[in-house]
Amino acid sequence: MFWADKVISKLDPQIPQVVNDSKTPSGRAHVGSLRGVIIHDVVFKTLLGRGFNARYIFGVDDYDPLDELPYGQDQQYRPYLGQPLCNVPAPPNSGATDMADYYISDFFGVFSYLGVKAETYRLRDIYRSGQFDAAIDTIISQAAKVRNIYKKVSGAERSPNWLPLQMVCQNCGRIGTTEAYAYDGQEVTYHCRTDLVKWASGCGYVGKGSPFAGGSSSRGS
Ligand SMILES: [Zn+2]
Repeated sequence: MFWADKVISKLDPQIPQVVNDSKTPSGRAHVGSLRGVIIHDVVFKTLLGRGFNARYIFGVDDYDPLDELPYGQDQQYRPYLGQPLCNVPAPPNSGATDMADYYISDFFGVFSYLGVKAETYRLRDIYRSGQFDAAIDTIISQAAKVRNIYKKVSGAERSPNWLPLQMVCQNCGRIGTTEAYAYDGQEVTYHCRTDLVKWASGCGYVGKGSPFAGGSSSRGS
């Protein structure tokens, strides 16, 4: 039996299927990054071949922070470490709107070459349009449950105030350096810490703002 047929063997052909993958556009993608793209494309094409109603969607994780410097561009990008990739400028004269756009355009260009026809979407658009707002409210309203799951699954001990999201700092624009610890049902209080991660230093600001419509991401780690 073909492996992809085995993967889909327990699915009900009457139920529409969505194959979803994503990539963080933090640098030039190496060839190994195509592994997931191809595997998911084979599953998608097998679904179509067996008469399923199926979609293949591919997300751009461009609200992830810049957590390493692109090779040879240390000086230019050091000030942006910790900011969402979609807010970091593109290399000069590249024609791209931002760093995320620059690297993902390169990657998606290979999709066309390989005949991979995924529908693409960007996390910046999902966050900013408010499509995640209800989910964000649910998850931070029930942060105690999330902390318990972390403890059970990975043994990670979180402080009793820890919230499973990261705010975009209103002072320095970084997201990878903020720690959120209070939610009043509308706004989240956070600290942009100088020592939260090794690869970026926050500005020390303590702020309060809306986590909705792009004010935060659920990438609390
Ligand atoms: Zn800051």
